[in-house]
Amino acid sequence: MKLVLTACPYCGTGCNLYLKVADKRVVGVIPSVSRSANRGHLCVKGWNAWEFIHHSDRLKSPLIKIRGKFKEAGWDDALDIVARNFKKIKKKYGPDSLGIWGSARCTNEMNYLAQKLARAVFGTNNVDHCARTCHSPTVAGLVRSFGSGAMTNSYDEIPQAAGIFAIGSNAPEAHPIIWWRIRTAKDNGAKIIVADPRKTKLAEIADIHLQHYPGTDIALLNALMHVIVKADLHDKSFIARCSLDFEKLTRVIEKYTPEYAESITGVPAGLIKEAAFLYAGLKPLSNIYTLGITEHTTGTENVMSVANLAILTGNVGKRSSGVNPLRGQNNVQGACDMAALPDVYPGYQRVDNDEIRRKFEAAWGVPLSPNPGLTVTDMIIQASAGKIKALYIIGEDPMRSDPNINHVKKALENLEFLVVQEIFMNKTAEFADVILPGASFAEKDGTFTNSERRIQRIRKAIGPLGKARPDWKIVCDISNRLGYAMKYKNISEIMDEVASLAPIYGGVSFERLEEDGLQWPCPDKEHPGTKYLHENGKFTCGLAKFHAIKHRPPAEECDSEYPFILTTGRMLFHYNVGTMTRRTPALNREYPDNFVQINFNDAARLGITNNAACRVATRRGGLKVRADVTDKIKEGVIWMPFHFTEAPANLLTKDAFCPIARTGEYKACAARVEKC
Ligand code: SF4
Repeated sequence: MKLVLTACPYCGTGCNLYLKVADKRVVGVIPSVSRSANRGHLCVKGWNAWEFIHHSDRLKSPLIKIRGKFKEAGWDDALDIVARNFKKIKKKYGPDSLGIWGSARCTNEMNYLAQKLARAVFGTNNVDHCARTCHSPTVAGLVRSFGSGAMTNSYDEIPQAAGIFAIGSNAPEAHPIIWWRIRTAKDNGAKIIVADPRKTKLAEIADIHLQHYPGTDIALLNALMHVIVKADLHDKSFIARCSLDFEKLTRVIEKYTPEYAESITGVPAGLIKEAAFLYAGLKPLSNIYTLGITEHTTGTENVMSVANLAILTGNVGKRSSGVNPLRGQNNVQGACDMAALPDVYPGYQRVDNDEIRRKFEAAWGVPLSPNPGLTVTDMIIQASAGKIKALYIIGEDPMRSDPNINHVKKALENLEFLVVQEIFMNKTAEFADVILPGASFAEKDGTFTNSERRIQRIRKAIGPLGKARPDWKIVCDISNRLGYAMKYKNISEIMDEVASLAPIYGGVSFERLEEDGLQWPCPDKEHPGTKYLHENGKFTCGLAKFHAIKHRPPAEECDSEYPFILTTGRMLFHYNVGTMTRRTPALNREYPDNFVQINFNDAARLGITNNAACRVATRRGGLKVRADVTDKIKEGVIWMPFHFTEAPANLLTKDAFCPIARTGEYKACAARVEKC
């Protein structure tokens, strides 16, 4: 048996693990003790991250649709069809009729090449990826507040914090190894304040739990800041030395008395005051948030509100003290860094900056478009409108992951040509003209960048199954057929190219990543990487910026027909749309079907008993699911996970989007529950 060190393919924590390999099969996992991302720990998903690899559903050959049916094909035939159709559509409708979806599940190297294919070969900036459905508001919001859109601190700083403020984060289920660190902080004496509509395990250990309604984060955060400023507990010296626009903030938060916030959030005014006083007395304090903050029509403003609170109290730019978004997928940070985004080149360099664009034109040897491209959200809208004609979707399933999937279906049906690159058949691939089989994380080399900005190696444990190919090679194959040579002898050459073009990755090489990886910014070969950002209040953008933000309700409010707020999220035992975890017997055994959490009192009123079937409906559709009757959710709010393809929560969610980041409002829409 051999052991191969690599990184977990699930959440953005990026735990390191060894794959156990016997007879060319992966047969188990053990955690790495020496790597700092997880220090010997794994959650239940990590321990079982090997089971799906050899599942009989794996795609092992290219598939071509002929008269509505998929037929196995050779690579040459499949790639010829792909190249021919992309060429034909580009010639007929122009480069902006094409689009590429990179993937937060795939390596940095693949994402770098995918955006290069879009920009240098297709001739469009229409390239994006699933960060749009989760943390794009983080990138947009933290760039506006601090100049850098990433977690400010390192995981190992969490246990040393005197305070943790977690808002919209269910770390025990979504980021269990961060949860371990929060519990360690609690054991070390830290005070914990949690803001969450549900009584999560994290809320159970909190000193104060603020159980607000989904979609009321800004009102809650403004009220906390109102109390802090009125009590003169803000950090005046930090504000004067390191920030801009404090007066603009104070004018807006004036109105947000705890009593006014209570009327919006449902949190008692006294508890808001108590939380504000506790928060203001804790230093260093780490602010932690996840999708409960970002997946709203106010997502970017929510992020900037969390940043406001941190700047106000001087809780940023120090060890254990900052704003820490916990990223969703294994490589969502890296896919953003590599510029699987429509408005920037690798390292967040804007495509509409002439000097930057000239640098990339010189490196890639072709003229590049100065116009920012479309987000995945807008590619779907423009496909429905007939302007996007062809898509190349890599490692994503928008027919399950995007809000209001009936709207996605119409868009996919309207395309002239769709290529899907995947490891398993999925609902999106059913609409494809060509399906290309990619390699799983166990079958390829490369790097992932985790939530604490740590670039880490993943290593090939076995060869690709059947005729599957590593994703980066497939992108090269397509590019070469389109007449633009992508000839890399090995994958480390791709990272060398990234390092030459993206200053935050300037000192990164495969050789340097061998030990414990490197945390960006790492500008040169001697730089040791950066543990926390904005040291001594020196922000990437110069001074941190307050943003004066008013509460706005969710796009869809409750009424007599749809009286509940439906909010959705993630569970410990499953991951995203379940592509891998639903094919992992040890995980699927525990939670094989979908359910809705509903408060005892609401259920009693509707005559619904625990585990009975009920129907959840919104203006987009309805689903029959099991009722989980509990005291863990606020009255008037219901919660569903989105992992179950046969009862997809995103049939119900609304396609309303944050106007800045274009992320969908997965966390709040109006719903009805009925007894079946
Ligand atoms: Fe994998 Fe995340 Fe669990 Fe770590 S915490 S083992 S990265 S799913």
